[in-house]
Amino acid sequence: MKFGGTSMAGIERIRGVAARVAAERAAGHEVAVVVSAMAGETDRLVGFAQAASPLADRAEYDVVVASGEQVTAGLLAIALHAAGVPARSWLGWQLAIATTDAHSTARIEDIDTDAVLASMAAGSVAVVPGFQGIGPDGRVTTLGRGGSDTSAVALAAALHADRCDIYTDVDGVYTTDPRIVPRARKLATITYEEMLELASVGAKVLQTRSVELAMKEKVRVQVLSSFNDTPGTLVVGEDEIVEQELIAGVAYNRNEAKITVAGVPDRPGVVAAIFGALADAQVNVDMIVQNIAYVAGTTDVTFTVPRTELALSEDVLAKAKAAIGYATVTSDAAVAKISVVGVGMRSHAGVAVTMFRALGDRGINIQAITTSEIKVSVLIAEEYTELAVRVLHTAYGLDA
Ligand code: ADP
Ligand code: ASP
Ligand code: MG
Repeated sequence: MKFGGTSMAGIERIRGVAARVAAERAAGHEVAVVVSAMAGETDRLVGFAQAASPLADRAEYDVVVASGEQVTAGLLAIALHAAGVPARSWLGWQLAIATTDAHSTARIEDIDTDAVLASMAAGSVAVVPGFQGIGPDGRVTTLGRGGSDTSAVALAAALHADRCDIYTDVDGVYTTDPRIVPRARKLATITYEEMLELASVGAKVLQTRSVELAMKEKVRVQVLSSFNDTPGTLVVGEDEIVEQELIAGVAYNRNEAKITVAGVPDRPGVVAAIFGALADAQVNVDMIVQNIAYVAGTTDVTFTVPRTELALSEDVLAKAKAAIGYATVTSDAAVAKISVVGVGMRSHAGVAVTMFRALGDRGINIQAITTSEIKVSVLIAEEYTELAVRVLHTAYGLDA
């Protein structure tokens, strides 16, 4: 069982979580629980680290931001004791949850489950702080924002759990963010592939890496609410879906910025020079469009980078100006990427054109497009985010 930040926000809610855990245990299950920090706490801790220094050492940043989950793990164990349920907390280094050394974006490599399994077999509920692990240097690491989902799936895989239940503040995975589109529909099931694409293009209900891991380790993941008892959404293999919808959902992402490098010489190797310089600076480029040469001999290249890396990217390009030989660099941070995802796209034509037409009819201009086998993404002006999501939700017949 994994409980997110809203579910852990305050002692009253933690008591509610303890009651849910006690009920599962009373039903005869051995339970391990992964907890997030209280809602808003990780943001607060990140703020402290940034205020201390924008260039905070990543290992020390992890020491700071991993602390939120330590607090909630201890509190839940105490609440379980108070409810008469034997329990103990297992911090990342105690289990141990071994990760890579990439502080602040570490990946779990191995979980040592011997001691925790013995403790669970003896009747004690294991309470594990999400988001944290221990690096090869013996220091605390964190898994990137939203990482408690990944902690939960990794622990479920390591324990060979029957299921990994992700309790959150919505009662399942919807056709789009229910906070933006009230007519969004809850999905009873969604395929791993669709969930993976949706997560990677912005549906933050599950961290992308957690879905990747669930798919690889064949963990049965269920998303459900901490606050009511309605059935949630089960993430399943494609063969388990009875009636396949064309589109599973619509997602948005406002974390990218657009950069246009104009007046680039239209010759082999130039694109490599642009993206090589960015890659050397560890900037992750997402969408890329290279325009046709409208002035003889030169072309324009437009792409997106994480907004947090816009300044760095501009700096890198300025330094590489002579090597690339462009005329100008312009940027726009007020953009949003809107995506539609569905495995039905593999066998149906016209999915993209429905999207372009629906946006065009509302006067929303498309600045860049990318596609994969089961996804179409467009870049638009940020101010139209909600409108675009709603219009597409209707255009694909997803409205409840
Ligand atoms: P937690 O703290 O429990 O991990 P998150 O805030 O990380 O919760 O994720 C849950 C949120 O994800 C919901 O409140 C909802 O606004 C958002 N969300 C975005 N897309 C979707 C979707 N397609 N279905 C359900 N929730 C979504
Ligand atoms: N507390 C961490 C975060 O806010 C991890 C999580 O909640 O999943 O990113
Ligand atoms: Mg989350």
